[in-house]
Amino acid sequence: MNPEQPKVTTFGTFKNRFLGVGSDQFLKTIPGTMVEHIDLQGKTVIPGFIESHNHLSMYAATLLQLDCRAETVRDIETLKREVKNTAIQTDSGQWILGFGYDDTLISDCRHLNCSDLDVAAPHHPVLIMHVSAHLAYANSKAMVISGVGSETPDPEGGHIDRDQAGRPSGLLLEPAAIDLVKKHVPKLNTGQYRSLLKRAIPYYHRHGITSSHDGAIGYTKDAPEIIEAYRHLEAAGELGLRVYMTIMHSYYDQLTSLGLGSAFGSDLLKLGSVKLFQDGSIQALTAALSDDYLNRPGHRGECIHPQENLNHLIEKYHRLGLQIAVHANGDRAIDSVLQAIDRAQHLAPRGDCRHMLIHTQMATLDHVRRMKALQVIPSYFVNHVFYWGDRHRDLFLGQERANTIDPLGTSLREGLPFTLHSDLPVTPVDPLASIHNAVNRVTRQGKILGADERIPVLEAFKAYTVNAAFCSFEENSKGSIVDGQLADFAIISDNPLSISPDKIKEIEILGTYVGGTKVYEPR
Ligand SMILES: [Zn+2]
Repeated sequence: MNPEQPKVTTFGTFKNRFLGVGSDQFLKTIPGTMVEHIDLQGKTVIPGFIESHNHLSMYAATLLQLDCRAETVRDIETLKREVKNTAIQTDSGQWILGFGYDDTLISDCRHLNCSDLDVAAPHHPVLIMHVSAHLAYANSKAMVISGVGSETPDPEGGHIDRDQAGRPSGLLLEPAAIDLVKKHVPKLNTGQYRSLLKRAIPYYHRHGITSSHDGAIGYTKDAPEIIEAYRHLEAAGELGLRVYMTIMHSYYDQLTSLGLGSAFGSDLLKLGSVKLFQDGSIQALTAALSDDYLNRPGHRGECIHPQENLNHLIEKYHRLGLQIAVHANGDRAIDSVLQAIDRAQHLAPRGDCRHMLIHTQMATLDHVRRMKALQVIPSYFVNHVFYWGDRHRDLFLGQERANTIDPLGTSLREGLPFTLHSDLPVTPVDPLASIHNAVNRVTRQGKILGADERIPVLEAFKAYTVNAAFCSFEENSKGSIVDGQLADFAIISDNPLSISPDKIKEIEILGTYVGGTKVYEPR
């Protein structure tokens, strides 16, 4: 990843930094009594992966929840059985939480409703999150505890689905509506987060990840507990992963009032960007599109913030000198965010802000050009091509629009730097699999989606290393194997530049090092 020295055969580490990269002679002069020499026998070493958008703390919390992903739960009957079994083992009145339900992948092909969950657990409040994290399902007990009924109006930016009689069906759309119920679920405390994060982080190490953004701390109203748990882990020397904390705007106001902002912290734990959402997700039909969804004529999804409100929010954080990261999937949402950033830049010109667009799935050529002009960095959710690509083509968008999701090829041709991400727990955190998807764009059904948007292997690696370091203002300290940079790297089984591109996801991680310290090796 260093263009001046693209390939070396030797490097050293001293304390937590690289030293003597490519200086075989220099390193040989250091006596074996002073250093440990390791012969990797021709294995490939790459800079550690930087996951620029996922939800580490949210994933950690799901480790306590029922796994409702389609890989585990094939149909609604199985899900009901699982909920019922959990209810038997759970004290009456205690919450049962689940994560990962996908109405379009499950054989019944429909949303859950109150009565599905009431049958399984009549005496427990139940809340199950959709895999997109933009929808949730509650049972009657949860609705009663939360005081959500026929008379409850839709909150701003959210929607309570209702049956023909006007009663809530159990389906809640977008965080504003989900939170009406979720705020009644007891929060995890700092100690619980600390032990769950300790269980979650090795999963990142196994995939060669040495740095990660935590993409929306405060999304579940427990920012203080999460941040404190991270701080405790760092102080105890147990963090083992560099974390860039992206924090929901509602919490960021408290930080800015103390004078804190982007990049405050240490090499291990940093305060990152302020996070906003401007739409939902395509597969939940809550992404804001310019044209109708293929499977629901007349429906285009809604932007979460009216344009004027978004303008105001972005201008406020832009003027405060912060980095802003906005979730936008649909082309109408992307348009709206770029409009607001453009406006803020006109009112208060600022250089090197590195504002980010998260997911950016339906960016058009025009959007790509505008992002470049505004120096906005998109982080593309390219795993969608594999996981939902067939359904984007057949159900939600149609062939033409589906071909252009995650326009990596267009971005590359236009000279727009970008990053890639997994959005864990939405899809598994596995940079090699994401790189594989960026390079091959093959769907689950084995079809290529948008061949023009495929990119070369090296470019996909840049998106997970140097470009990702850039988007947290850390390109001088990590992302490449260069003297003086943090010694974050992974040993892998094959050279990705010489194997067949369709074999990239089969490459194995043979070791992961953070600051020169080994944090993973296979057993
Ligand atoms: Zn996310």
